[in-house]
Amino acid sequence: MAESGSMTLRERVASEEWARRDAVVNEKVFVTQPYLPPLVEFLPYLEQIWNSKALTNGGPFHQQLEEALCEYLGVRHISLFANGTLAIVTALQELRITGEVITTPYSFVATSHSLLWNGIKPVFVDVDPATLNLDPAKIEAAITPHTTAILAVHCYGRPCDVKAIQKIADTYNLKVIYDAAHAFGVQGSQGSILNHGDLSVLSFHATKVYNTFEGGAIVSPDAKSKARIDHLKNFGYAGETTVIAPGINGKMCEFNAALGVLQLKHIEAAIEARRHIDDRYRERLKTVKGIRCLGYAGVRAPNYAYFPILVEPGYPLDRDALNERLKAHGIVPRRYFYPLITEFPMYRGLPSSNPAGLPVAVNASRRILCLPIYPDLALDTVDRVADLIASA
Ligand SMILES: *Cc1c(COP(=O)(O)O)cnc(C)c1O
Repeated sequence: MAESGSMTLRERVASEEWARRDAVVNEKVFVTQPYLPPLVEFLPYLEQIWNSKALTNGGPFHQQLEEALCEYLGVRHISLFANGTLAIVTALQELRITGEVITTPYSFVATSHSLLWNGIKPVFVDVDPATLNLDPAKIEAAITPHTTAILAVHCYGRPCDVKAIQKIADTYNLKVIYDAAHAFGVQGSQGSILNHGDLSVLSFHATKVYNTFEGGAIVSPDAKSKARIDHLKNFGYAGETTVIAPGINGKMCEFNAALGVLQLKHIEAAIEARRHIDDRYRERLKTVKGIRCLGYAGVRAPNYAYFPILVEPGYPLDRDALNERLKAHGIVPRRYFYPLITEFPMYRGLPSSNPAGLPVAVNASRRILCLPIYPDLALDTVDRVADLIASA
């Protein structure tokens, strides 16, 4: 690294040259931009890691982050992971899920890939038009003697109908896992939405509301489950000479855990900044015919992770034309979730992937557009995006 006068690294990091980093990243406005704390605040954490030489395997930051997250999220037990996908794969292992699992086609592929990694057959069920989450009314018809669990997603941080899903699970003796990758910090009418089902899984990927660069976690209701999950993420080791299962290496290292501790100090401000953007879009788009902004029915504290709109027939352009219009003006939204998981080659051939059985999901995937939202997004830019949509 080149020397820069007599400044220490910490001084250079704190200097204005580094502080202006935001302005120069890119002129384009992307759907999201990772939230980062000021680099100068992270240096003492790095020094601590270098001094202790505790790099991984449940070091002090790992311990600290698990405790801090339990408190912030209002959950009892949490196990940190290197990423959310490994956490879903391990959650399925912890509950010893086999056979068939009912899940949603309207999600990121990691949800159903986790089933395939466990040799489980996904059975896709359509979503509810209001929330775009698994529709409980359609689950029962998909249950067979091989069904062992329901893997649902709190899509865009909107809670699933957890009561209805639990009722079906109790009736048919099924486990319930929630992919809560979008739902960090979300409070439903009964507190944290992470306290439902048998296990919930979080992602701390760079693009999520709360990030540790890469990272994830499993929320579990009791100490026994947590202990087994902690063994499973460490090759199955339950002691120096005891291996209880063919576990994986899913551990979060100290670098990510330290960053997580620091990020947590900024999370409330970050969510508050997102709230202003969400409010502004809603205000600006409410009179635009044919644009439906997804609401927050039943959510006491949203996290404003995404700003999904549905481009309906009353709008002059279709979704793809609106996407192109925004891109031509330097705005890069994202069509998630398009294509549906069921349209990818490894799922297409399953009977439950037939689009005829998934009309709501198919329709949403053709109409959805997620607009840019992230803490550093200027309200002027939000206005510009809204004007481009309103003036088509
Ligand atoms: C991001 C995401 C995941 C995967 O999380 P990673 O941490 O990237 O492995 C899983 N499910 C959903 C719905 C996601 O959005």
